[in-house]
Amino acid sequence: MDLEEFSRKLSDILSAAESEVRSAESSSLADLRAKFLGRKGEMTKMMKHLASLPQDMRPQAGKLANETKKKIESLFSGVVAPQKKSYEKFDPTLPGRKPIVGGIHPLEWTLRRIVDIFYGMGFSVASGPEMETEYYNFDALNTPEDHPARDIQDTFYLERKGWLLRTQTSPVQIRVMESQKPPVKIIAPGRCYRRDAIDSTHYYTFTQVEGLYVDRDVTLADLKGVLTAFAKQFIGENVRVRFRPHFFPFTEPSVEYDFSCPVCDGKGCRVCKGTGWLEISGAGMVDPEVFKAAGYDPDEVQGYAFGMGVERIAMVKFGIDDIRLLYENDLAFLEQF
Ligand SMILES: [Zn+2]
Repeated sequence: MDLEEFSRKLSDILSAAESEVRSAESSSLADLRAKFLGRKGEMTKMMKHLASLPQDMRPQAGKLANETKKKIESLFSGVVAPQKKSYEKFDPTLPGRKPIVGGIHPLEWTLRRIVDIFYGMGFSVASGPEMETEYYNFDALNTPEDHPARDIQDTFYLERKGWLLRTQTSPVQIRVMESQKPPVKIIAPGRCYRRDAIDSTHYYTFTQVEGLYVDRDVTLADLKGVLTAFAKQFIGENVRVRFRPHFFPFTEPSVEYDFSCPVCDGKGCRVCKGTGWLEISGAGMVDPEVFKAAGYDPDEVQGYAFGMGVERIAMVKFGIDDIRLLYENDLAFLEQF
């Protein structure tokens, strides 16, 4: 066989394939494929003929054969086998297929609910970066150089000097006050990071909602009022709020606040460990030093600030006893909500 004959044979095979595939029933396509492209098919035979050609013709003949093979393959890929008639396969006694419907993660549900309630009380939502500077995370918040929170054991510092992953949402307070004149009434929800040892109540990341209200004649009573209004909406009408004295660098006076246990109504139970109270978080009146750092005059304005751990509140709400469950994305756990 010479090159001319080889090439003529190829084009005969191609035109045969074209006309046979075009007129084929879908059931015979597999047979046709075997006839032209199969292990004992026409094209395989042609490939074997290659070896009998003179050496110098083989490259060109091989190229022609490959092109033809591709063309035949594309004939088959262009043909879509018609679907089986659907009634032949339909079994009306089979149970229906249940679509999988996603739900809102309990943490996200809690966060949205918290934001909703404060929004209803006239707070707008502010946000800030999770990568912060030491200035916004500590200095501007009146946190002394030697404060233990700054310790490398407690904070994730970034390689870039002076930068860290924020340990609280309070830096947003400073950013908002720098960019806006009083009055200010915001909440700042967001992720925070601390180098805590992980256990059932600590995780390396957590969600905080920060609240800040600055105006004239703001008092600690306003703070207690807003937290009580929140607790009543979130948990129920009977919930009471109590303050315990505390210390934070950025508020003076500072308090920790508790909600009365909704499970036992303050009588003492397993959930509240017999105390009748659930510790929620910290709050207080904005320290004059913080106002100065943000460019406000502490003789002109007062304000309160509060923080709220969303995981803690979700755990109280849903009776979850291990914070890690909120981050493990275990479907068996999440599907309960
Ligand atoms: Zn209780």
